[in-house]
Amino acid sequence: MNNSFIIKGDFYFSSKERKLLNYNNSYCVVENGISQGIFKEIPEKYMNLQVIDHSGNMIMPGLVDLHLHASQYSFRGMGMDLELLQWLNEYTFPEEHNYADEEYADRAYQIFTDDLKRSYSTRAVVFGTIHTDTTLMLMEKLEKAGLYSYVGKVNMDRNAPDYYIEEAKDSITETKRFIEEALRRFKKTKPIITPRFIPTCTDTLMKGLAEIQKETQLPVQSHLSENRSEIEWVKELCPEAEFYGDAYDRFGLFGKGCKTIMAHCVSSTEMELERMRTNGVYVAHCPNSNMNLSSGIAPVRRLLDKGIHVGIGTDIAGGHTLSMLDEMVSAVQASKMRWRYIDEEEPITIIDAFYMATRGGGSFFGNIGGFDGGYEFDAIVIDDSTAATSKELDSVSRFVRVLNLGGECRIKEKYVGGDKII
Ligand SMILES: [Zn+2]
Repeated sequence: MNNSFIIKGDFYFSSKERKLLNYNNSYCVVENGISQGIFKEIPEKYMNLQVIDHSGNMIMPGLVDLHLHASQYSFRGMGMDLELLQWLNEYTFPEEHNYADEEYADRAYQIFTDDLKRSYSTRAVVFGTIHTDTTLMLMEKLEKAGLYSYVGKVNMDRNAPDYYIEEAKDSITETKRFIEEALRRFKKTKPIITPRFIPTCTDTLMKGLAEIQKETQLPVQSHLSENRSEIEWVKELCPEAEFYGDAYDRFGLFGKGCKTIMAHCVSSTEMELERMRTNGVYVAHCPNSNMNLSSGIAPVRRLLDKGIHVGIGTDIAGGHTLSMLDEMVSAVQASKMRWRYIDEEEPITIIDAFYMATRGGGSFFGNIGGFDGGYEFDAIVIDDSTAATSKELDSVSRFVRVLNLGGECRIKEKYVGGDKII
Protein backbone atom coordinates (compact mmCIF):
# COMPACT_ATOMS: atom_id res chain seq x y z
CA MET A 1 0.00 0.00 0.00
CA ASN A 2 1.26 3.48 -0.89
CA ASN A 3 1.38 5.46 2.30
CA SER A 4 3.08 8.57 0.99
CA PHE A 5 0.49 11.21 0.12
CA ILE A 6 -0.78 14.68 0.92
CA ILE A 7 -4.09 15.18 2.64
CA LYS A 8 -6.02 18.45 2.59
CA GLY A 9 -8.59 19.67 5.11
CA ASP A 10 -9.14 21.54 8.39
CA PHE A 11 -6.65 20.14 10.90
CA TYR A 12 -7.08 20.12 14.66
CA PHE A 13 -4.62 18.74 17.20
CA SER A 14 -3.19 19.44 20.58
CA SER A 15 0.15 21.08 21.33
CA LYS A 16 2.51 19.59 23.91
CA GLU A 17 1.29 22.36 26.22
CA ARG A 18 -2.32 21.13 25.81
CA LYS A 19 -3.36 24.06 23.62
CA LEU A 20 -5.62 23.49 20.63
CA LEU A 21 -3.87 23.96 17.28
CA ASN A 22 -6.00 24.58 14.20
CA TYR A 23 -4.95 24.92 10.55
CA ASN A 24 -7.83 25.31 8.14
CA ASN A 25 -7.61 24.64 4.44
CA SER A 26 -4.11 23.20 4.85
CA TYR A 27 -2.05 20.22 3.77
CA CYS A 28 -0.47 17.45 5.80
CA VAL A 29 2.38 15.73 3.96
CA VAL A 30 2.71 12.05 4.84
CA GLU A 31 5.83 10.15 3.79
CA ASN A 32 6.00 6.42 4.49
CA GLY A 33 3.24 6.79 7.06
CA ILE A 34 5.00 9.62 8.91
CA SER A 35 3.71 13.20 9.00
CA GLN A 36 6.14 15.78 7.67
CA GLY A 37 4.06 18.57 9.18
CA ILE A 38 1.20 20.84 8.15
CA PHE A 39 1.65 23.37 5.35
CA LYS A 40 -0.42 26.24 3.97
CA GLU A 41 0.96 25.50 0.47
CA ILE A 42 2.39 22.22 -0.80
CA PRO A 43 6.21 22.46 -0.58
CA GLU A 44 8.00 22.16 -3.90
CA LYS A 45 9.72 18.86 -3.11
CA TYR A 46 6.40 17.09 -2.44
CA MET A 47 4.66 18.30 -5.62
CA ASN A 48 4.64 14.81 -7.13
CA LEU A 49 2.68 13.23 -4.26
CA GLN A 50 -1.00 12.41 -4.63
CA VAL A 51 -3.34 14.92 -2.93
CA ILE A 52 -6.36 13.51 -1.10
CA ASP A 53 -8.78 16.41 -0.94
CA HIS A 54 -11.03 16.67 2.12
CA SER A 55 -11.62 20.41 1.84
CA GLY A 56 -14.33 21.45 4.28
CA ASN A 57 -13.87 18.37 6.46
CA MET A 58 -12.17 18.25 9.84
CA ILE A 59 -9.11 16.08 10.39
CA MET A 60 -7.95 15.17 13.90
CA PRO A 61 -5.55 12.58 15.29
CA GLY A 62 -6.99 9.15 16.03
CA LEU A 63 -7.86 8.63 19.69
CA VAL A 64 -5.88 6.32 21.95
CA ASP A 65 -7.89 4.13 24.33
CA LEU A 66 -5.39 3.46 27.10
CA HIS A 67 -7.39 0.84 29.00
CA LEU A 68 -10.14 -1.60 28.14
CA HIS A 69 -11.13 -5.27 28.51
CA ALA A 70 -12.04 -6.77 25.13
CA SER A 71 -13.62 -9.85 26.71
CA GLN A 72 -16.06 -7.66 28.66
CA TYR A 73 -17.38 -5.93 25.55
CA SER A 74 -20.12 -8.57 25.37
CA PHE A 75 -21.76 -7.25 28.55
CA ARG A 76 -21.19 -3.55 28.06
CA GLY A 77 -24.08 -1.45 29.23
CA MET A 78 -25.24 -4.13 31.66
CA GLY A 79 -24.63 -5.12 35.25
CA MET A 80 -23.58 -1.81 36.69
CA ASP A 81 -25.50 -2.08 39.93
CA LEU A 82 -22.51 -3.29 41.96
CA GLU A 83 -19.18 -1.99 43.17
CA LEU A 84 -15.88 -3.31 41.85
CA LEU A 85 -15.22 -6.43 43.95
CA GLN A 86 -18.80 -7.74 43.80
CA TRP A 87 -19.02 -6.76 40.13
CA LEU A 88 -15.95 -8.88 39.36
CA ASN A 89 -17.39 -11.95 41.06
CA GLU A 90 -20.97 -11.62 39.84
CA TYR A 91 -20.52 -10.53 36.23
CA THR A 92 -16.94 -10.30 35.10
CA PHE A 93 -15.26 -13.57 36.05
CA PRO A 94 -18.19 -15.69 34.78
CA GLU A 95 -18.09 -13.85 31.43
CA GLU A 96 -14.31 -13.97 31.05
CA HIS A 97 -14.46 -17.71 31.70
CA ASN A 98 -16.48 -18.07 28.46
CA TYR A 99 -13.34 -17.23 26.50
CA ALA A 100 -11.99 -20.72 27.16
CA ASP A 101 -14.38 -21.61 24.33
CA GLU A 102 -12.86 -20.75 20.95
CA GLU A 103 -16.18 -20.47 19.16
CA TYR A 104 -17.56 -18.05 21.71
CA ALA A 105 -14.34 -16.01 21.69
CA ASP A 106 -14.30 -15.89 17.91
CA ARG A 107 -17.79 -14.41 17.78
CA ALA A 108 -17.35 -12.00 20.67
CA TYR A 109 -13.91 -10.73 19.68
CA GLN A 110 -15.03 -10.20 16.08
CA ILE A 111 -17.87 -7.94 17.23
CA PHE A 112 -15.47 -6.05 19.47
CA THR A 113 -12.84 -5.62 16.74
CA ASP A 114 -15.37 -4.49 14.11
CA ASP A 115 -16.75 -1.86 16.49
CA LEU A 116 -13.29 -0.64 17.51
CA LYS A 117 -12.33 -0.35 13.85
CA ARG A 118 -15.40 1.82 13.18
CA SER A 119 -14.75 4.06 16.19
CA TYR A 120 -12.63 7.21 16.60
CA SER A 121 -9.92 5.08 18.25
CA THR A 122 -6.83 4.14 16.25
CA ARG A 123 -4.88 2.52 19.10
CA ALA A 124 -5.81 0.68 22.25
CA VAL A 125 -4.25 -1.03 25.24
CA VAL A 126 -6.27 -4.12 25.93
CA PHE A 127 -6.83 -6.86 28.51
CA GLY A 128 -7.74 -10.30 27.14
CA THR A 129 -8.48 -13.13 29.58
CA ILE A 130 -6.30 -15.77 31.25
CA HIS A 131 -6.64 -17.91 28.09
CA THR A 132 -3.55 -17.75 25.87
CA ASP A 133 -5.02 -19.09 22.64
CA THR A 134 -8.12 -16.96 22.48
CA THR A 135 -6.15 -13.87 23.50
CA LEU A 136 -3.88 -14.58 20.52
CA MET A 137 -7.03 -14.93 18.41
CA LEU A 138 -8.08 -11.43 19.53
CA MET A 139 -4.65 -10.12 18.50
CA GLU A 140 -4.98 -11.68 15.09
CA LYS A 141 -8.29 -9.89 14.56
CA LEU A 142 -6.88 -6.53 15.68
CA GLU A 143 -3.87 -7.00 13.42
CA LYS A 144 -6.12 -7.74 10.44
CA ALA A 145 -8.24 -4.67 11.22
CA GLY A 146 -5.13 -2.50 10.84
CA LEU A 147 -5.32 -1.08 14.37
CA TYR A 148 -2.28 -0.73 16.61
CA SER A 149 -2.57 -2.19 20.08
CA TYR A 150 -1.00 -3.74 23.11
CA VAL A 151 -2.85 -6.83 24.30
CA GLY A 152 -2.29 -8.77 27.49
CA LYS A 153 -2.99 -12.32 28.56
CA VAL A 154 -4.37 -11.78 32.07
CA ASN A 155 -2.53 -13.32 35.05
CA MET A 156 -4.32 -14.29 38.26
CA ASP A 157 -3.54 -17.04 40.76
CA ARG A 158 -5.49 -16.16 43.91
CA ASN A 159 -8.79 -14.73 45.09
CA ALA A 160 -10.63 -15.81 41.99
CA PRO A 161 -13.26 -18.54 41.49
CA ASP A 162 -12.11 -22.14 40.92
CA TYR A 163 -13.30 -22.05 37.32
CA TYR A 164 -11.24 -18.97 36.47
CA ILE A 165 -7.83 -19.12 38.06
CA GLU A 166 -4.34 -20.44 37.28
CA GLU A 167 -1.44 -21.90 39.24
CA ALA A 168 1.45 -19.42 39.36
CA LYS A 169 3.79 -21.69 37.44
CA ASP A 170 1.26 -22.36 34.65
CA SER A 171 0.49 -18.68 34.46
CA ILE A 172 4.19 -17.95 33.94
CA THR A 173 4.70 -20.70 31.36
CA GLU A 174 1.62 -19.61 29.44
CA THR A 175 2.67 -15.95 29.54
CA LYS A 176 6.02 -16.91 28.01
CA ARG A 177 4.28 -18.88 25.27
CA PHE A 178 1.87 -16.00 24.71
CA ILE A 179 4.70 -13.49 24.30
CA GLU A 180 6.77 -15.69 21.99
CA GLU A 181 3.83 -16.38 19.69
CA ALA A 182 2.62 -12.78 19.69
CA LEU A 183 6.06 -11.39 18.84
CA ARG A 184 6.47 -13.95 16.08
CA ARG A 185 3.04 -13.51 14.50
CA PHE A 186 2.12 -9.83 14.73
CA LYS A 187 3.58 -6.45 13.79
CA LYS A 188 1.01 -3.89 14.92
CA THR A 189 -0.31 -5.89 17.86
CA LYS A 190 2.15 -6.20 20.70
CA PRO A 191 2.06 -8.21 23.90
CA ILE A 192 1.92 -6.45 27.27
CA ILE A 193 2.46 -8.06 30.68
CA THR A 194 -0.84 -8.04 32.55
CA PRO A 195 -1.13 -8.94 36.24
CA ARG A 196 -4.87 -8.29 36.75
CA PHE A 197 -4.33 -6.46 40.04
CA ILE A 198 -2.56 -7.12 43.33
CA PRO A 199 -5.50 -8.95 45.01
CA THR A 200 -5.42 -11.73 42.38
CA CYS A 201 -1.62 -12.12 42.11
CA THR A 202 0.63 -13.89 44.64
CA ASP A 203 4.21 -12.79 45.24
CA THR A 204 5.40 -15.89 43.36
CA LEU A 205 3.42 -14.87 40.30
CA MET A 206 4.55 -11.25 40.52
CA LYS A 207 8.19 -12.35 40.79
CA GLY A 208 7.80 -14.57 37.72
CA LEU A 209 6.21 -11.74 35.73
CA ALA A 210 8.95 -9.35 36.82
CA GLU A 211 11.57 -11.79 35.50
CA ILE A 212 9.75 -11.99 32.17
CA GLN A 213 9.60 -8.20 32.07
CA LYS A 214 13.33 -7.84 32.68
CA GLU A 215 14.13 -10.35 30.00
CA THR A 216 11.73 -9.02 27.35
CA GLN A 217 11.59 -5.32 28.30
CA LEU A 218 7.87 -5.43 27.50
CA PRO A 219 5.49 -2.91 29.07
CA VAL A 220 3.09 -3.66 31.91
CA GLN A 221 -0.56 -2.81 32.57
CA SER A 222 -2.68 -3.22 35.66
CA HIS A 223 -5.17 -1.52 37.99
CA LEU A 224 -4.47 0.82 40.90
CA SER A 225 -6.38 2.53 43.72
CA GLU A 226 -9.76 2.20 42.03
CA ASN A 227 -12.15 1.38 44.85
CA ARG A 228 -12.04 1.88 48.63
CA SER A 229 -12.67 -1.78 49.59
CA GLU A 230 -10.03 -2.85 47.10
CA ILE A 231 -7.47 -0.48 48.63
CA GLU A 232 -8.23 -1.78 52.16
CA TRP A 233 -7.88 -5.33 50.88
CA VAL A 234 -4.46 -4.60 49.39
CA LYS A 235 -3.36 -3.22 52.77
CA GLU A 236 -4.32 -6.55 54.36
CA LEU A 237 -2.70 -8.62 51.62
CA CYS A 238 0.54 -6.61 51.47
CA PRO A 239 1.14 -5.09 54.91
CA GLU A 240 4.78 -4.48 53.98
CA ALA A 241 3.89 -2.20 51.05
CA GLU A 242 4.03 1.54 51.80
CA PHE A 243 0.97 2.11 49.61
CA TYR A 244 -0.91 0.21 46.89
CA GLY A 245 1.43 1.25 44.07
CA ASP A 246 4.42 0.21 46.16
CA ALA A 247 3.08 -3.36 46.03
CA TYR A 248 3.86 -3.30 42.27
CA ASP A 249 7.03 -1.27 42.66
CA ARG A 250 8.56 -3.82 45.06
CA PHE A 251 8.66 -6.21 42.08
CA GLY A 252 9.89 -3.60 39.60
CA LEU A 253 6.54 -3.52 37.82
CA PHE A 254 5.78 0.17 38.32
CA GLY A 255 7.58 2.35 35.81
CA LYS A 256 11.24 3.33 36.07
CA GLY A 257 12.64 1.44 33.12
CA CYS A 258 9.48 -0.66 32.91
CA LYS A 259 6.84 1.15 30.84
CA THR A 260 3.66 0.90 32.89
CA ILE A 261 0.00 1.87 32.66
CA MET A 262 -2.10 1.88 35.81
CA ALA A 263 -5.84 2.25 35.32
CA HIS A 264 -7.96 4.50 37.57
CA CYS A 265 -5.90 6.02 40.42
CA VAL A 266 -9.13 7.43 41.85
CA SER A 267 -7.89 7.40 45.45
CA SER A 268 -4.12 7.52 45.08
CA THR A 269 -2.35 9.15 48.03
CA GLU A 270 0.11 11.98 47.56
CA MET A 271 2.95 9.50 48.16
CA GLU A 272 1.62 7.19 45.49
CA LEU A 273 1.25 10.04 42.98
CA GLU A 274 4.75 11.22 43.71
CA ARG A 275 6.14 7.72 43.05
CA MET A 276 4.18 7.57 39.80
CA ARG A 277 5.58 10.90 38.71
CA THR A 278 9.20 9.99 39.46
CA ASN A 279 8.80 6.51 37.94
CA GLY A 280 7.03 7.83 34.83
CA VAL A 281 3.96 5.62 35.30
CA TYR A 282 1.01 6.34 32.99
CA VAL A 283 -2.47 6.79 34.42
CA ALA A 284 -5.40 5.56 32.35
CA HIS A 285 -8.22 7.83 33.47
CA CYS A 286 -11.56 6.01 33.07
CA PRO A 287 -14.35 8.31 34.31
CA ASN A 288 -17.33 6.34 32.95
CA SER A 289 -16.19 3.20 34.72
CA ASN A 290 -15.41 5.11 37.91
CA MET A 291 -18.94 6.52 37.95
CA ASN A 292 -20.70 3.31 36.86
CA LEU A 293 -19.03 1.25 39.60
CA SER A 294 -19.34 4.06 42.17
CA SER A 295 -15.56 4.15 42.54
CA GLY A 296 -15.25 7.93 42.66
CA ILE A 297 -13.66 10.74 40.66
CA ALA A 298 -9.94 10.71 39.94
CA PRO A 299 -8.10 14.01 40.60
CA VAL A 300 -7.26 14.41 36.96
CA ARG A 301 -6.41 18.13 37.09
CA ARG A 302 -3.89 17.37 39.86
CA LEU A 303 -2.38 14.50 37.85
CA LEU A 304 -1.87 16.76 34.84
CA ASP A 305 -0.48 19.64 36.89
CA LYS A 306 1.94 17.31 38.66
CA GLY A 307 3.33 16.29 35.28
CA ILE A 308 2.15 12.67 35.48
CA HIS A 309 1.45 11.02 32.10
CA VAL A 310 -2.33 10.77 31.75
CA GLY A 311 -4.36 9.15 29.00
CA ILE A 312 -8.02 8.20 28.80
CA GLY A 313 -9.46 4.67 28.79
CA THR A 314 -12.99 3.44 28.21
CA ASP A 315 -12.43 0.52 30.62
CA ILE A 316 -15.02 -1.58 28.85
CA ALA A 317 -17.14 -2.93 30.53
CA GLY A 318 -16.88 -1.00 33.77
CA GLY A 319 -17.24 1.77 31.21
CA HIS A 320 -20.37 1.24 29.14
CA THR A 321 -19.20 2.53 25.75
CA LEU A 322 -16.26 2.13 23.41
CA SER A 323 -16.66 5.77 22.39
CA MET A 324 -13.62 7.73 23.46
CA LEU A 325 -15.51 10.95 22.66
CA ASP A 326 -18.16 9.97 25.18
CA GLU A 327 -15.41 9.18 27.67
CA MET A 328 -13.82 12.60 27.13
CA VAL A 329 -17.13 14.35 27.78
CA SER A 330 -17.52 12.31 30.97
CA ALA A 331 -13.99 13.26 32.03
CA VAL A 332 -14.97 16.91 31.88
CA GLN A 333 -18.30 16.39 33.64
CA ALA A 334 -16.72 14.30 36.40
CA SER A 335 -14.02 16.89 36.89
CA LYS A 336 -16.65 19.62 37.28
CA MET A 337 -18.43 17.55 39.93
CA ARG A 338 -15.15 17.01 41.74
CA TRP A 339 -14.62 20.78 41.72
CA ARG A 340 -18.15 21.35 43.01
CA TYR A 341 -18.24 18.68 45.70
CA ILE A 342 -14.74 17.57 46.64
CA ASP A 343 -11.75 19.86 46.49
CA GLU A 344 -12.22 22.94 44.31
CA GLU A 345 -9.47 21.69 42.04
CA GLU A 346 -10.02 23.57 38.79
CA PRO A 347 -12.06 21.42 36.40
CA ILE A 348 -10.50 20.22 33.16
CA THR A 349 -11.82 21.38 29.79
CA ILE A 350 -12.74 19.33 26.74
CA ILE A 351 -9.45 20.55 25.20
CA ASP A 352 -7.57 19.01 28.16
CA ALA A 353 -9.51 15.79 27.58
CA PHE A 354 -8.64 15.95 23.87
CA TYR A 355 -4.96 16.26 24.80
CA MET A 356 -5.16 13.23 27.09
CA ALA A 357 -7.01 11.15 24.46
CA THR A 358 -4.44 11.97 21.77
CA ARG A 359 -0.94 13.05 22.78
CA GLY A 360 -1.30 12.08 26.46
CA GLY A 361 -2.01 8.39 25.92
CA GLY A 362 -0.43 8.40 22.47
CA SER A 363 3.08 8.87 23.80
CA PHE A 364 2.83 5.38 25.30
CA PHE A 365 3.02 4.16 21.67
CA GLY A 366 5.73 6.64 20.59
CA ASN A 367 5.24 9.74 18.43
CA ILE A 368 1.46 9.47 18.31
CA GLY A 369 -1.38 11.92 18.79
CA GLY A 370 -0.34 14.95 16.74
CA PHE A 371 0.47 16.02 13.19
CA ASP A 372 3.94 17.37 14.01
CA GLY A 373 6.73 16.33 11.68
CA GLY A 374 7.97 12.88 12.74
CA TYR A 375 4.61 11.73 14.12
CA GLU A 376 2.96 8.60 12.76
CA PHE A 377 -0.09 9.55 10.73
CA ASP A 378 -3.11 8.41 12.74
CA ALA A 379 -6.07 10.49 11.61
CA ILE A 380 -9.83 10.68 11.54
CA VAL A 381 -11.48 12.62 8.72
CA ILE A 382 -14.81 13.87 10.04
CA ASP A 383 -17.86 14.98 8.11
CA ASP A 384 -19.65 17.22 10.60
CA SER A 385 -22.37 18.31 8.19
CA THR A 386 -24.51 15.52 9.65
CA ALA A 387 -24.71 17.43 12.95
CA ALA A 388 -26.57 20.37 11.47
CA THR A 389 -26.97 23.74 13.13
CA SER A 390 -28.52 27.01 12.04
CA LYS A 391 -25.60 28.94 13.54
CA GLU A 392 -22.44 30.24 11.92
CA LEU A 393 -19.61 28.65 13.88
CA ASP A 394 -16.04 29.83 14.38
CA SER A 395 -13.36 27.16 14.02
CA VAL A 396 -12.92 26.44 17.72
CA SER A 397 -16.67 26.23 18.46
CA ARG A 398 -17.03 23.92 15.50
CA PHE A 399 -14.39 21.57 16.89
CA VAL A 400 -15.55 21.66 20.52
CA ARG A 401 -19.05 20.89 19.30
CA VAL A 402 -17.80 17.87 17.36
CA LEU A 403 -15.98 16.54 20.43
CA ASN A 404 -19.22 16.82 22.38
CA LEU A 405 -21.53 15.54 19.61
CA GLY A 406 -19.15 13.06 18.02
CA GLY A 407 -21.77 10.39 17.65
CA GLU A 408 -23.78 12.66 15.35
CA CYS A 409 -20.89 13.11 12.94
CA ARG A 410 -19.69 10.71 10.27
CA ILE A 411 -16.21 9.23 10.07
CA LYS A 412 -15.35 9.72 6.42
CA GLU A 413 -11.90 8.15 6.46
CA LYS A 414 -9.60 6.71 9.11
CA TYR A 415 -5.81 6.31 8.91
CA VAL A 416 -3.60 4.32 11.26
CA GLY A 417 0.17 4.56 10.92
CA GLY A 418 -0.38 6.06 7.46
CA ASP A 419 -2.62 3.21 6.27
CA LYS A 420 -6.23 3.94 5.38
CA ILE A 421 -8.47 1.45 7.20
CA ILE A 422 -11.86 3.10 6.56
ZN1 LIG B 1 -9.94 -2.34 33.92
